[in-house]
Amino acid sequence: MTITESSSLEQQVKKIALNEGVVLVGICSTDSIKNKLFSDPNYLLPGAQSVVSIALKQDEKSIERYLAKKDRDSFCLKSDEINKKLYAIGDKIKTYLEEKGFKAFNCKINFDYRNAKLNETTYKALETFVSLINKQKDESSSLSKAEQKTFDNLKKMLEIGFKKGRVDFVPEFSHRCAAEAAGLGRIGWSGNIITEKYGARIMFTSVLTDAKLKPDEPLKDNPCVMCKLCERVCQGGFFSKDEAEKIIVGGTEEIIGKRSSYSYCAAVCGGFIGQNRFKEWSTWSPYRLKSYGIEDVEQLPLDDTVDDFYQDIMYRAIIEGGRKAENVLKMIRTILYGLHNKPKEDYIPTCANCQIICGPKMEDKKKSYKLLIKSGCIEKGDL
Ligand code: SF4
Ligand code: SF4
Repeated sequence: MTITESSSLEQQVKKIALNEGVVLVGICSTDSIKNKLFSDPNYLLPGAQSVVSIALKQDEKSIERYLAKKDRDSFCLKSDEINKKLYAIGDKIKTYLEEKGFKAFNCKINFDYRNAKLNETTYKALETFVSLINKQKDESSSLSKAEQKTFDNLKKMLEIGFKKGRVDFVPEFSHRCAAEAAGLGRIGWSGNIITEKYGARIMFTSVLTDAKLKPDEPLKDNPCVMCKLCERVCQGGFFSKDEAEKIIVGGTEEIIGKRSSYSYCAAVCGGFIGQNRFKEWSTWSPYRLKSYGIEDVEQLPLDDTVDDFYQDIMYRAIIEGGRKAENVLKMIRTILYGLHNKPKEDYIPTCANCQIICGPKMEDKKKSYKLLIKSGCIEKGDL
């Protein structure tokens, strides 16, 4: 498509996105989503009036192979490519709006939290600590006096940090809220955005601007068919199969599965536990509750202590050194640099099941579910 001077600003922005390969693009007003802390665009761009929501579809073939545990790398690499492409398209839209005299802000794709700001110094300290742990555990070497002192100091800091830290992260901006209000899809039972054409197999980002753009209408009908297969593939037990909760997004009321603590997802999706509710299959993580020294625990705790439990799992992973500690470092690097900026081999997903199970049609969802439950367990090896 060619951009002509006579096109409206909305049309021109959308054409840029479509020409770059996005499969869905829409616009919502800041007012429609600013009622929630995590979806108020003014946090990132004071005076924001509109949000441009764009989406790329995920790669079906690599999803199938990932669910079937035949090939993980293709899914990781494709996802990385999509994230980086989305960010680059967002940048083009931002530049265009700025050239037209408006302010614009290209949001990071994900892993960007208001209350979990990290800096290079903190990350480097953690990296040093992990290398000292690895050296300490290596029978052929020992720590010098100076290294031991550094180790002891860092350990104290780390213990305090982990006791203070909590997993109720607040994202800088909710791409899902913008996508719903801009008419790209609707929130389904899993809490993911479900689109008419691609199901939940879609990735989003958002560009904020102080230009007052004409908003699109939210989708009238919710494409979620309430099959609840998303709940059947969540080893963490993050959301309920039967209990519902109501949320309002962009003025539309949505019914989602009642949430437990985010720790239920973080422990599994973060790769720290690969199996919990279902024993015939696992995620891509080889780790089990028992590997954290917790015997006879068949399920994650079912009360508020789950947050402490998760913090403890993270702490234990670091203290253990080796690949488990490297997994925590990878996650922290992703928060530090952003998904669009991270090295492509970093933060390899182990789950995402609730999203990728939800293919475009019911037959796709059923097929994916079968692939997963027959995929077996990852028992050994590293993440
Ligand atoms: S898997 Fe089924 S219930 Fe879950 S979000 Fe998708 S369509 Fe809705
Ligand atoms: S990403 Fe995995 S662990 Fe997290 S809610 Fe979805 S299915 Fe559950």
